[in-house]
Amino acid sequence: MTKGVLARYRDFLPVTSATPIITIGEGDTPFIRSSTLEKELGCGELYFKLEGCNPTGSFKDRGMVVAVAKAMEAGSKAIICASTGNTSASASAFAARFGLTSVVIVPKGNVALGKMAQAITQGARIIVIDGNFDQALDIVRALVEKHPVAMVNSINPNRIEGQKSAAFEIVDTLGDAPDYLFIPVGNAGNITAYWKGFREYYQAGISKKKPKMMGFEAEGSAAIVRGEVIKQPETLATAIRIGNPASWGRAVAARDESCGVIGSVTDDEIIAAYKLLAAKEGVFCEPASAASVAGLIKMIKGGMDVSDKIIACVITGNGLKDPDTALSIAVSPAESPADINAVEGFLGWD
Ligand SMILES: *Cc1c(COP(=O)(O)O)cnc(C)c1O
Repeated sequence: MTKGVLARYRDFLPVTSATPIITIGEGDTPFIRSSTLEKELGCGELYFKLEGCNPTGSFKDRGMVVAVAKAMEAGSKAIICASTGNTSASASAFAARFGLTSVVIVPKGNVALGKMAQAITQGARIIVIDGNFDQALDIVRALVEKHPVAMVNSINPNRIEGQKSAAFEIVDTLGDAPDYLFIPVGNAGNITAYWKGFREYYQAGISKKKPKMMGFEAEGSAAIVRGEVIKQPETLATAIRIGNPASWGRAVAARDESCGVIGSVTDDEIIAAYKLLAAKEGVFCEPASAASVAGLIKMIKGGMDVSDKIIACVITGNGLKDPDTALSIAVSPAESPADINAVEGFLGWD
């Protein structure tokens, strides 16, 4: 039976004798070596951490399990979040399984189809606001001041605690930290969490080194790179369409302490990496997730030499979340009569 993040890493988590050890089967995701891009890009070793293999299809389950367990421990009956989609998919799954009410505030028009389908089917109370993610988060912050409901966005420190388990898993699998960790940056909770995880394992003597943290925002919402809040963030990578990252300062600290980089990639670069991952590695991720690989490609094109380095790219979410984007850039399949000759004709096999 899958242990889950709380049972597996309880010594590193805020678990007390009163914390319920709940799980939906999160964590323990595949960490696979590149088959093609490693050579084509000239990396020493290149790995992908497939966080889309979590139960609700993104890394959000790792943090949510701790946030929800601590909310239950404190007696909460309801949880609330602002979400670009995956947080609500995760929160509503935990709420459904453990008998809580979930309330999710999402921005109008920018939540991928699969994520909305999850939250609806799992019984969340969903309010779609006529505004963006940052405004949704402001509303949630104000609501939890007035009502007895636990906030499960990544400004809840328990989310960061759970998400750092992905860094533990990478070290547990590789035997040490990689040289570089490439990761998409939206609200910057995840880069904060990985850095915390790598530091803790290093301090505990489990790893001998710490990676350089390489975070990538989408250019149209690259607040950290530009050094200013972006009022109207834009990108087709909706999971990182965030103009005022909640963990801004901690992402900058992760970059500086690790001698890393926070950069940006364009939507074209994101889509190019998204297609490469699918076509060359068999990894179908959501667009935001491809920002990590897009960042790696951009750095290598810019002259970074990684020919003797070990690189891990975090693939944050599953491509099935966002079929609209996939189909909008795909070539439509051929349509044939139900006839072997016609099919052979299309295949050029006659
Ligand atoms: C939430 C999310 C991100 C961004 O993570 P942050 O912690 O907000 O930086 C990236 N990709 C996917 C698929 C996500 O769900």
